[in-house]
Amino acid sequence: MGEIYQKFLKESAKKAFDLEHRYKINYNIGKYNEAVLKGKKQFRDIELARKRAAFLKHRIINNLEKYLIEFAANFEKNGGKIIWAQDTDEATHEILALLHKNNAKQVVKSKSMTTEEIELNEVLEQNNIEIVETDLGEYIVQIAGEKPYHIVTPAMHKSRDDIAQLFHEKFNTPRESSPEELTNYVREKLRKKFVNADIGITGGNFLIADIGAVCITENEGNGLMSTAFPKIHIAVVGIEKLIPSLKDMDLFWPLLASYGTGQYITVYNSIFSGPRKEGEIDGPEEMYLVLLENNRSEILKHEKQRNALTCIRCGACLNACPVYKNIGGHTYNNTYSGPIGSVISPHLKGMQDYKHLSFASSLCGSCTEVCPVKIPLHEMLLDNRNESVKLGYSKLGEKISISSMNTFLSKRKRMDMFSPKLKNIGMQLIF
Ligand code: SF4
Repeated sequence: MGEIYQKFLKESAKKAFDLEHRYKINYNIGKYNEAVLKGKKQFRDIELARKRAAFLKHRIINNLEKYLIEFAANFEKNGGKIIWAQDTDEATHEILALLHKNNAKQVVKSKSMTTEEIELNEVLEQNNIEIVETDLGEYIVQIAGEKPYHIVTPAMHKSRDDIAQLFHEKFNTPRESSPEELTNYVREKLRKKFVNADIGITGGNFLIADIGAVCITENEGNGLMSTAFPKIHIAVVGIEKLIPSLKDMDLFWPLLASYGTGQYITVYNSIFSGPRKEGEIDGPEEMYLVLLENNRSEILKHEKQRNALTCIRCGACLNACPVYKNIGGHTYNNTYSGPIGSVISPHLKGMQDYKHLSFASSLCGSCTEVCPVKIPLHEMLLDNRNESVKLGYSKLGEKISISSMNTFLSKRKRMDMFSPKLKNIGMQLIF
Protein backbone atom coordinates (compact mmCIF):
# COMPACT_ATOMS: atom_id res chain seq x y z
CA MET A 1 0.00 0.00 0.00
CA GLY A 2 1.42 3.36 -1.03
CA GLU A 3 2.18 6.01 1.56
CA ILE A 4 -0.32 8.50 0.12
CA TYR A 5 -3.08 5.87 0.12
CA GLN A 6 -2.32 4.87 3.71
CA LYS A 7 -2.43 8.48 4.82
CA PHE A 8 -5.76 8.93 3.03
CA LEU A 9 -7.27 5.86 4.72
CA LYS A 10 -6.07 6.91 8.16
CA GLU A 11 -7.20 10.52 7.88
CA SER A 12 -10.55 9.78 6.25
CA ALA A 13 -11.41 7.20 8.94
CA LYS A 14 -10.62 9.80 11.59
CA LYS A 15 -12.45 12.68 9.93
CA ALA A 16 -15.56 10.65 9.19
CA PHE A 17 -16.13 10.31 12.94
CA ASP A 18 -15.37 13.93 13.76
CA LEU A 19 -18.85 15.19 14.63
CA GLU A 20 -17.79 18.82 15.06
CA HIS A 21 -16.36 18.81 11.54
CA ARG A 22 -19.52 17.23 10.20
CA TYR A 23 -21.67 19.85 11.92
CA LYS A 24 -19.64 22.77 10.50
CA ILE A 25 -19.61 21.39 6.96
CA ASN A 26 -23.28 20.50 6.95
CA TYR A 27 -24.12 23.95 8.30
CA ASN A 28 -22.07 25.76 5.64
CA ILE A 29 -23.21 23.51 2.80
CA GLY A 30 -26.81 23.91 4.00
CA LYS A 31 -26.46 27.69 3.58
CA TYR A 32 -24.90 27.14 0.16
CA ASN A 33 -27.75 24.85 -0.95
CA GLU A 34 -30.36 27.47 -0.01
CA ALA A 35 -28.49 30.18 -1.92
CA VAL A 36 -27.96 28.05 -5.04
CA LEU A 37 -31.67 27.31 -5.33
CA LYS A 38 -32.31 31.06 -5.51
CA GLY A 39 -29.33 31.75 -7.77
CA LYS A 40 -30.47 29.22 -10.36
CA LYS A 41 -33.87 30.88 -10.61
CA GLN A 42 -32.35 33.68 -12.68
CA PHE A 43 -32.19 31.30 -15.66
CA ARG A 44 -35.34 30.93 -17.68
CA ASP A 45 -34.09 27.54 -18.87
CA ILE A 46 -31.26 26.27 -16.70
CA GLU A 47 -30.91 23.02 -18.67
CA LEU A 48 -30.39 24.96 -21.87
CA ALA A 49 -27.80 27.17 -20.15
CA ARG A 50 -25.91 24.08 -18.93
CA LYS A 51 -26.01 22.46 -22.35
CA ARG A 52 -24.78 25.62 -24.04
CA ALA A 53 -21.93 26.03 -21.54
CA ALA A 54 -20.94 22.36 -21.97
CA PHE A 55 -21.06 22.75 -25.76
CA LEU A 56 -18.80 25.82 -25.72
CA LYS A 57 -16.29 24.25 -23.35
CA HIS A 58 -16.25 21.06 -25.45
CA ARG A 59 -15.56 23.08 -28.53
CA ILE A 60 -12.55 24.56 -26.73
CA ILE A 61 -11.19 21.27 -25.44
CA ASN A 62 -11.56 19.55 -28.81
CA ASN A 63 -9.76 22.43 -30.54
CA LEU A 64 -7.44 23.47 -27.75
CA GLU A 65 -4.43 24.14 -29.94
CA LYS A 66 -6.38 26.45 -32.25
CA TYR A 67 -7.87 28.47 -29.38
CA LEU A 68 -4.56 28.69 -27.52
CA ILE A 69 -2.88 30.12 -30.60
CA GLU A 70 -5.72 32.60 -31.11
CA PHE A 71 -5.66 33.64 -27.46
CA ALA A 72 -1.86 34.01 -27.34
CA ALA A 73 -1.77 36.15 -30.49
CA ASN A 74 -4.46 38.49 -29.16
CA PHE A 75 -2.98 38.72 -25.67
CA GLU A 76 0.44 39.60 -27.08
CA LYS A 77 -1.13 42.12 -29.44
CA ASN A 78 -2.48 43.84 -26.31
CA GLY A 79 1.05 44.09 -24.91
CA GLY A 80 0.93 41.10 -22.54
CA LYS A 81 3.70 38.50 -22.41
CA ILE A 82 3.08 34.78 -22.27
CA ILE A 83 5.20 32.27 -20.39
CA TRP A 84 4.39 28.71 -21.48
CA ALA A 85 5.05 26.41 -18.54
CA GLN A 86 5.20 22.67 -19.09
CA ASP A 87 5.16 21.83 -15.39
CA THR A 88 5.36 23.13 -11.84
CA ASP A 89 9.14 23.56 -11.93
CA GLU A 90 9.07 25.59 -15.12
CA ALA A 91 6.25 27.80 -13.83
CA THR A 92 7.85 28.54 -10.46
CA HIS A 93 11.30 28.98 -12.01
CA GLU A 94 9.99 31.58 -14.46
CA ILE A 95 7.97 33.43 -11.81
CA LEU A 96 10.98 33.51 -9.49
CA ALA A 97 13.19 34.79 -12.29
CA LEU A 98 10.72 37.64 -12.90
CA LEU A 99 10.59 38.49 -9.20
CA HIS A 100 14.40 38.46 -8.89
CA LYS A 101 14.81 40.55 -12.03
CA ASN A 102 12.53 43.19 -10.54
CA ASN A 103 14.07 42.89 -7.10
CA ALA A 104 10.63 42.07 -5.68
CA LYS A 105 10.38 41.45 -1.96
CA GLN A 106 6.63 41.73 -1.42
CA VAL A 107 3.89 40.05 -3.42
CA VAL A 108 0.12 40.27 -3.03
CA LYS A 109 -1.91 37.40 -4.40
CA SER A 110 -5.59 36.90 -5.09
CA LYS A 111 -7.29 33.53 -4.83
CA SER A 112 -5.97 31.01 -7.33
CA MET A 113 -6.07 27.22 -7.28
CA THR A 114 -3.49 27.08 -10.09
CA THR A 115 -0.92 28.78 -7.85
CA GLU A 116 -1.85 26.22 -5.17
CA GLU A 117 -1.20 23.50 -7.73
CA ILE A 118 2.35 24.75 -8.30
CA GLU A 119 2.83 25.46 -4.55
CA LEU A 120 3.90 29.00 -5.33
CA ASN A 121 3.61 30.32 -1.77
CA GLU A 122 6.06 27.73 -0.46
CA VAL A 123 8.55 28.45 -3.26
CA LEU A 124 8.46 32.21 -2.69
CA GLU A 125 8.76 31.85 1.07
CA GLN A 126 11.80 29.61 0.62
CA ASN A 127 13.29 32.44 -1.43
CA ASN A 128 12.59 35.05 1.27
CA ILE A 129 9.86 36.77 -0.69
CA GLU A 130 6.79 37.73 1.30
CA ILE A 131 3.56 36.56 -0.33
CA VAL A 132 0.27 37.68 1.16
CA GLU A 133 -3.07 36.08 0.34
CA THR A 134 -5.63 38.85 -0.11
CA ASP A 135 -8.86 36.84 -0.38
CA LEU A 136 -10.26 36.69 3.16
CA GLY A 137 -10.78 32.91 3.14
CA GLU A 138 -7.30 32.34 1.72
CA TYR A 139 -5.84 34.81 4.23
CA ILE A 140 -7.44 32.82 7.08
CA VAL A 141 -5.99 29.51 5.90
CA GLN A 142 -2.62 31.15 5.24
CA ILE A 143 -2.29 32.49 8.78
CA ALA A 144 -3.54 29.14 10.12
CA GLY A 145 -0.71 27.44 8.19
CA GLU A 146 -3.20 25.32 6.27
CA LYS A 147 -4.08 24.56 2.67
CA PRO A 148 -7.44 25.63 1.20
CA TYR A 149 -10.18 23.25 2.27
CA HIS A 150 -12.41 23.86 -0.75
CA ILE A 151 -11.77 25.19 -4.26
CA VAL A 152 -14.26 28.07 -3.84
CA THR A 153 -14.55 28.58 -0.09
CA PRO A 154 -11.09 27.85 1.34
CA ALA A 155 -12.03 28.30 5.01
CA MET A 156 -15.34 26.45 4.88
CA HIS A 157 -14.23 24.13 7.69
CA LYS A 158 -13.89 26.97 10.19
CA SER A 159 -16.72 28.45 12.24
CA ARG A 160 -16.83 32.15 13.17
CA ASP A 161 -15.60 31.17 16.65
CA ASP A 162 -12.65 29.26 15.19
CA ILE A 163 -11.69 32.33 13.18
CA ALA A 164 -12.07 34.73 16.12
CA GLN A 165 -9.85 32.41 18.17
CA LEU A 166 -7.28 32.18 15.38
CA PHE A 167 -7.07 35.98 15.04
CA HIS A 168 -6.85 36.32 18.79
CA GLU A 169 -3.87 33.95 18.85
CA LYS A 170 -2.11 35.49 15.86
CA PHE A 171 -2.90 39.21 16.25
CA ASN A 172 -4.27 39.54 19.76
CA THR A 173 -7.63 40.83 18.55
CA PRO A 174 -10.43 40.49 21.14
CA ARG A 175 -11.55 36.88 21.50
CA GLU A 176 -15.21 37.88 21.00
CA SER A 177 -14.63 39.94 17.79
CA SER A 178 -17.49 39.80 15.30
CA PRO A 179 -16.95 38.76 11.65
CA GLU A 180 -17.38 42.43 10.64
CA GLU A 181 -14.68 43.56 13.09
CA LEU A 182 -12.29 40.89 11.88
CA THR A 183 -12.97 41.76 8.26
CA ASN A 184 -12.21 45.42 8.98
CA TYR A 185 -9.03 44.40 10.77
CA VAL A 186 -7.85 42.39 7.74
CA ARG A 187 -8.90 45.17 5.37
CA GLU A 188 -6.68 47.67 7.22
CA LYS A 189 -3.74 45.29 7.15
CA LEU A 190 -4.16 44.42 3.48
CA ARG A 191 -4.45 48.02 2.30
CA LYS A 192 -0.85 48.65 3.30
CA LYS A 193 0.21 45.44 1.59
CA PHE A 194 -1.52 46.40 -1.67
CA VAL A 195 0.15 49.80 -1.72
CA ASN A 196 3.63 48.48 -0.96
CA ALA A 197 3.60 45.30 -3.06
CA ASP A 198 6.13 45.03 -5.86
CA ILE A 199 4.15 42.47 -7.82
CA GLY A 200 0.55 41.26 -7.89
CA ILE A 201 -0.19 37.62 -8.70
CA THR A 202 -3.62 36.34 -9.66
CA GLY A 203 -5.20 33.28 -11.18
CA GLY A 204 -7.85 33.53 -13.87
CA ASN A 205 -11.34 32.07 -14.10
CA PHE A 206 -11.51 32.34 -17.87
CA LEU A 207 -9.21 33.14 -20.76
CA ILE A 208 -11.16 34.88 -23.49
CA ALA A 209 -9.75 33.80 -26.84
CA ASP A 210 -11.15 36.42 -29.23
CA ILE A 211 -9.93 39.42 -27.24
CA GLY A 212 -6.87 37.81 -25.62
CA ALA A 213 -7.89 38.66 -22.05
CA VAL A 214 -7.78 37.09 -18.58
CA CYS A 215 -11.04 37.21 -16.67
CA ILE A 216 -11.16 37.22 -12.87
CA THR A 217 -14.33 36.88 -10.88
CA GLU A 218 -14.34 37.56 -7.13
CA ASN A 219 -16.39 39.04 -4.30
CA GLU A 220 -14.00 41.21 -2.34
CA GLY A 221 -12.27 43.47 -4.85
CA ASN A 222 -8.93 42.06 -3.74
CA GLY A 223 -8.18 40.69 -7.21
CA LEU A 224 -8.66 44.14 -8.65
CA MET A 225 -6.49 45.72 -5.91
CA SER A 226 -3.76 43.11 -6.42
CA THR A 227 -3.43 44.27 -10.01
CA ALA A 228 -4.15 48.00 -9.66
CA PHE A 229 -1.29 48.99 -7.36
CA PRO A 230 1.78 46.86 -8.19
CA LYS A 231 3.77 47.70 -11.30
CA ILE A 232 3.70 44.12 -12.53
CA HIS A 233 0.80 41.70 -12.79
CA ILE A 234 1.48 37.98 -13.19
CA ALA A 235 -1.53 35.74 -13.87
CA VAL A 236 -1.11 31.97 -13.53
CA VAL A 237 -3.76 29.99 -15.41
CA GLY A 238 -4.26 26.45 -16.69
CA ILE A 239 -4.48 26.04 -20.47
CA GLU A 240 -7.99 24.60 -20.23
CA LYS A 241 -9.56 27.81 -18.93
CA LEU A 242 -10.29 29.17 -22.39
CA ILE A 243 -13.67 30.25 -23.66
CA PRO A 244 -14.20 31.26 -27.28
CA SER A 245 -15.50 34.79 -27.08
CA LEU A 246 -16.26 37.82 -24.90
CA LYS A 247 -19.92 37.40 -25.74
CA ASP A 248 -19.91 34.02 -23.95
CA MET A 249 -19.31 35.76 -20.64
CA ASP A 250 -23.02 36.59 -20.38
CA LEU A 251 -23.50 32.86 -19.89
CA PHE A 252 -20.40 31.89 -17.90
CA TRP A 253 -20.45 34.71 -15.36
CA PRO A 254 -23.98 34.04 -14.05
CA LEU A 255 -23.51 30.27 -14.34
CA LEU A 256 -20.34 30.28 -12.25
CA ALA A 257 -21.90 32.66 -9.71
CA SER A 258 -25.08 30.59 -9.34
CA TYR A 259 -23.34 27.24 -8.94
CA GLY A 260 -20.35 28.55 -7.00
CA THR A 261 -22.01 30.68 -4.35
CA GLY A 262 -25.68 31.02 -5.26
CA GLN A 263 -25.31 34.63 -6.41
CA TYR A 264 -26.86 36.04 -9.57
CA ILE A 265 -23.52 37.51 -10.45
CA THR A 266 -20.27 37.71 -8.52
CA VAL A 267 -19.55 41.21 -7.18
CA TYR A 268 -16.35 42.03 -9.08
CA ASN A 269 -15.79 40.74 -12.60
CA SER A 270 -12.64 42.08 -14.22
CA ILE A 271 -11.25 41.56 -17.68
CA PHE A 272 -7.50 42.13 -17.99
CA SER A 273 -6.41 42.62 -21.55
CA GLY A 274 -2.73 43.41 -21.08
CA PRO A 275 -0.79 46.13 -19.28
CA ARG A 276 -1.66 49.82 -18.95
CA LYS A 277 -1.76 51.56 -22.32
CA GLU A 278 -0.47 55.00 -23.14
CA GLY A 279 -2.75 57.64 -21.68
CA GLU A 280 -4.36 55.24 -19.17
CA ILE A 281 -3.95 56.11 -15.50
CA ASP A 282 -4.56 52.69 -13.93
CA GLY A 283 -3.14 49.24 -14.18
CA PRO A 284 0.26 47.56 -14.18
CA GLU A 285 3.13 48.58 -16.42
CA GLU A 286 3.76 44.96 -17.37
CA MET A 287 1.49 41.95 -17.51
CA TYR A 288 2.63 38.33 -17.77
CA LEU A 289 0.53 35.24 -18.15
CA VAL A 290 1.93 31.89 -17.08
CA LEU A 291 0.02 29.30 -19.10
CA LEU A 292 0.33 26.04 -17.24
CA GLU A 293 0.17 22.63 -18.91
CA ASN A 294 1.24 20.39 -15.98
CA ASN A 295 -0.09 17.10 -17.39
CA ARG A 296 -3.37 18.48 -18.69
CA SER A 297 -2.44 16.92 -22.03
CA GLU A 298 -2.48 13.54 -20.27
CA ILE A 299 -6.17 14.10 -19.60
CA LEU A 300 -6.70 15.40 -23.10
CA LYS A 301 -5.36 12.13 -24.52
CA HIS A 302 -8.27 10.20 -23.01
CA GLU A 303 -11.39 10.36 -25.09
CA LYS A 304 -13.69 10.16 -22.06
CA GLN A 305 -11.74 11.85 -19.28
CA ARG A 306 -10.96 14.89 -21.42
CA ASN A 307 -14.46 16.02 -20.41
CA ALA A 308 -12.95 16.93 -17.07
CA LEU A 309 -11.05 19.78 -18.72
CA THR A 310 -14.35 21.57 -19.28
CA CYS A 311 -14.66 22.16 -15.52
CA ILE A 312 -15.23 25.80 -14.52
CA ARG A 313 -14.22 25.15 -10.87
CA CYS A 314 -17.52 26.13 -9.34
CA GLY A 315 -17.19 23.66 -6.47
CA ALA A 316 -20.79 22.41 -6.76
CA CYS A 317 -19.73 18.76 -7.05
CA LEU A 318 -17.76 19.01 -3.78
CA ASN A 319 -20.79 20.39 -1.95
CA ALA A 320 -23.02 17.62 -3.31
CA CYS A 321 -20.66 14.74 -2.57
CA PRO A 322 -21.45 12.58 0.49
CA VAL A 323 -17.83 11.44 0.66
CA TYR A 324 -16.45 15.00 0.62
CA LYS A 325 -18.93 16.05 3.29
CA ASN A 326 -17.75 13.26 5.56
CA ILE A 327 -14.02 13.16 5.05
CA GLY A 328 -13.48 16.87 4.30
CA GLY A 329 -11.29 18.68 1.81
CA HIS A 330 -7.91 18.31 3.51
CA THR A 331 -8.08 14.52 3.59
CA TYR A 332 -7.69 14.38 -0.19
CA ASN A 333 -4.18 15.74 0.41
CA ASN A 334 -4.39 17.38 -2.95
CA THR A 335 -5.07 20.78 -4.55
CA TYR A 336 -8.29 19.60 -6.17
CA SER A 337 -10.58 17.68 -3.84
CA GLY A 338 -14.06 16.18 -4.14
CA PRO A 339 -15.35 14.43 -7.26
CA ILE A 340 -13.54 16.61 -9.81
CA GLY A 341 -10.29 16.22 -7.84
CA SER A 342 -10.77 12.45 -7.75
CA VAL A 343 -11.22 12.42 -11.53
CA ILE A 344 -8.28 14.63 -12.54
CA SER A 345 -5.67 14.02 -9.84
CA PRO A 346 -4.75 10.47 -10.93
CA HIS A 347 -3.93 11.93 -14.36
CA LEU A 348 -2.27 15.13 -13.16
CA LYS A 349 -0.19 13.48 -10.44
CA GLY A 350 0.07 9.81 -11.36
CA MET A 351 -2.42 6.94 -11.45
CA GLN A 352 -0.35 4.72 -9.19
CA ASP A 353 -0.29 7.17 -6.28
CA TYR A 354 -3.73 8.76 -6.68
CA LYS A 355 -5.96 6.01 -8.10
CA HIS A 356 -7.48 5.44 -4.66
CA LEU A 357 -9.36 8.76 -4.97
CA SER A 358 -11.39 7.32 -7.85
CA PHE A 359 -12.41 4.45 -5.60
CA ALA A 360 -13.40 6.79 -2.74
CA SER A 361 -16.86 7.36 -4.13
CA SER A 362 -20.32 5.98 -3.53
CA LEU A 363 -21.07 6.51 -7.26
CA CYS A 364 -24.38 8.04 -6.24
CA GLY A 365 -24.19 10.43 -9.19
CA SER A 366 -24.98 13.61 -7.20
CA CYS A 367 -21.85 15.24 -8.60
CA THR A 368 -22.96 14.63 -12.17
CA GLU A 369 -26.42 15.92 -11.39
CA VAL A 370 -25.20 19.29 -10.08
CA CYS A 371 -22.39 20.03 -12.53
CA PRO A 372 -23.20 23.20 -14.52
CA VAL A 373 -21.20 21.98 -17.53
CA LYS A 374 -22.66 18.47 -17.40
CA ILE A 375 -19.47 16.53 -16.74
CA PRO A 376 -20.42 12.88 -16.13
CA LEU A 377 -18.19 12.73 -13.08
CA HIS A 378 -19.35 9.42 -11.59
CA GLU A 379 -18.89 7.66 -14.93
CA MET A 380 -15.41 9.09 -15.19
CA LEU A 381 -14.56 7.75 -11.76
CA LEU A 382 -15.47 4.31 -13.12
CA ASP A 383 -13.29 4.94 -16.18
CA ASN A 384 -10.38 5.78 -13.90
CA ARG A 385 -10.94 2.59 -11.91
CA ASN A 386 -10.99 0.64 -15.14
CA GLU A 387 -7.76 2.23 -16.28
CA SER A 388 -6.01 1.58 -12.99
CA VAL A 389 -6.96 -2.12 -13.20
CA LYS A 390 -5.74 -2.30 -16.80
CA LEU A 391 -2.46 -0.73 -15.75
CA GLY A 392 -2.08 -3.51 -13.20
CA TYR A 393 -2.43 -1.34 -10.09
CA SER A 394 -5.05 -3.47 -8.36
CA LYS A 395 -3.98 -5.61 -5.43
CA LEU A 396 -3.73 -9.40 -5.62
CA GLY A 397 -6.48 -9.91 -2.99
CA GLU A 398 -8.78 -7.63 -4.96
CA LYS A 399 -8.14 -9.54 -8.19
CA ILE A 400 -8.81 -12.92 -6.52
CA SER A 401 -12.03 -11.76 -4.87
CA ILE A 402 -13.41 -10.16 -8.05
CA SER A 403 -12.60 -13.17 -10.22
CA SER A 404 -14.11 -15.59 -7.62
CA MET A 405 -17.24 -13.46 -7.50
CA ASN A 406 -17.38 -13.50 -11.25
CA THR A 407 -17.14 -17.28 -11.32
CA PHE A 408 -19.85 -17.85 -8.73
CA LEU A 409 -22.30 -15.07 -9.49
CA SER A 410 -22.38 -15.57 -13.23
CA LYS A 411 -24.09 -18.98 -12.98
CA ARG A 412 -27.17 -19.63 -10.88
CA LYS A 413 -26.24 -23.29 -10.53
CA ARG A 414 -22.96 -22.44 -8.89
CA MET A 415 -24.65 -20.09 -6.48
CA ASP A 416 -27.14 -22.76 -5.49
CA MET A 417 -24.35 -25.18 -4.60
CA PHE A 418 -24.12 -23.43 -1.23
CA SER A 419 -26.66 -22.79 1.50
CA PRO A 420 -27.76 -19.16 2.09
CA LYS A 421 -25.81 -19.19 5.36
CA LEU A 422 -22.61 -20.29 3.67
CA LYS A 423 -23.14 -17.72 0.90
CA ASN A 424 -23.43 -14.97 3.49
CA ILE A 425 -20.26 -16.08 5.23
CA GLY A 426 -18.50 -16.16 1.86
CA MET A 427 -19.63 -12.63 0.97
CA GLN A 428 -18.54 -11.34 4.35
CA LEU A 429 -15.12 -12.91 3.87
CA ILE A 430 -14.73 -11.38 0.43
CA PHE A 431 -15.73 -7.87 1.44
S1 SF4 B 1 -16.76 19.34 -12.17
FE1 SF4 B 1 -18.60 20.56 -12.56
S2 SF4 B 1 -19.50 20.80 -10.51
FE2 SF4 B 1 -17.38 20.15 -10.17
S3 SF4 B 1 -16.22 22.04 -9.92
FE3 SF4 B 1 -16.14 21.49 -12.09
S4 SF4 B 1 -17.81 22.60 -13.07
FE4 SF4 B 1 -18.20 22.61 -10.87
